[in-house]
Amino acid sequence: MGFERSEWVWKNGEIVPWASATLHISSHALHYGSGVFEGIRCYGTQAGPALFRLDAHLARLYNSAAVYRIPIPYTAEELASATCEVIRQNRLRSCYVRPLCFYGSYSLAVAPLRCPVEVGTLAWPWEPLLGAANIEKGVRVTVSPWTKLHSSMLPATAKASGQYLNSMLALRDAVQHGFDEAILPELDGKLAEGSGENIFLVRGGKLLTNDEEDSILPGVTRDSVIRIAHDLDLAVEVRSLYPDDLLAAEEAFCTGTASEVTPIREVDGIPVGKGVRGPVTQQIQRVFYEATSGRNPKYDSWLKLVEGRP
Ligand code: PMP
Repeated sequence: MGFERSEWVWKNGEIVPWASATLHISSHALHYGSGVFEGIRCYGTQAGPALFRLDAHLARLYNSAAVYRIPIPYTAEELASATCEVIRQNRLRSCYVRPLCFYGSYSLAVAPLRCPVEVGTLAWPWEPLLGAANIEKGVRVTVSPWTKLHSSMLPATAKASGQYLNSMLALRDAVQHGFDEAILPELDGKLAEGSGENIFLVRGGKLLTNDEEDSILPGVTRDSVIRIAHDLDLAVEVRSLYPDDLLAAEEAFCTGTASEVTPIREVDGIPVGKGVRGPVTQQIQRVFYEATSGRNPKYDSWLKLVEGRP
C-alpha cells in the first residue's frame, strides 16, 4: 500500500500538508545517507490507538543519532508528542510511524559541519511488511550472497539511513530469485539478520537468537519476544547463529516492527521443520498480538495511548 491515507506530516516542529513536506536536492542526507530513523507501530486498542514501545524506539533513535553525532534539536518528549499529533491529525487508528532526523542543505562536504538537522515524522497505514497472509503461512527466505556490513565498518546497533543500502541489495537479490526475504550472513559465515528483521530459531524446544556481538540491530520486537518467551517459561539462548542451526531448526521466525512476528517456513528451498508455522512461533505470536492490541494487562506498560492517558 502507498501513502494515500496520510494527509499530514510533522516537519521541524509543525504539522504541514503531505505535499509541503519536501526538501532540497542539495540535502546532505540525500547524497550520503546521513540520517537516522525509527519504525514504530501504533495499534488499535479498545481505549483507542496506542503506540507500541514508543520509549524504546525513541531511546534507540537518540542512540543512533549520538553514534553519528547528529544533534536532534528536540527532546524525546517533544518527539513523542509529535508522534501522537501526526497520528491524531491523520485520524489513523492503526499505522506505522517513521521519525527521521537527517542533515539538510548547507554544503556537500562529507563532514556535515554546518548542515542543519531536519526532523520529520510520517504516519500511514501499513500492513505487515512480509505480507499479512504470511503471518500465518510463513515466508521463504534465502541466505544472501551479500554479507551484513560488519559493526567495525558501520555500527549495526544504529539505525541509519545509509546502512540500508546493504539491506536493499540483499532484499532485491532475494526477491529477484523468488524469495520473500534475505538473511544476511556475516563475513565469517555466521548469520546476522534479515534485511529489516532479527531472527529466532527454535531447536529442542528452546529459542535461539543472536545479539549485538554479531552485527545486528537490537530490535525492539526481538526484546519484546524475549520477554514474552520468559513469561511463557520458554528458554531463550542468546548466542551466535550458524547455517547448521538454521538447517536443523524445528521452527524459525523473524521479528521487526514492520514485519511483526513472521514465521520462516523455508530456507533456500529447504523446509524449516515441517515447513509450516510451528507451535512455539504460534504461541509467541498469540501473546505478542495480545500485547500490541492491549488485550493482555501484563504488557500495558508497553502501550502509550495517542489520546491523553499514558
Ligand atoms: N534489523 C534491522 C536491520 C531492521 O531494520 C529492523 C527494523 N527496525 C530490525 C532488525 C528489527 O527491529 P525492531 O524490532 O526494533 O523493529
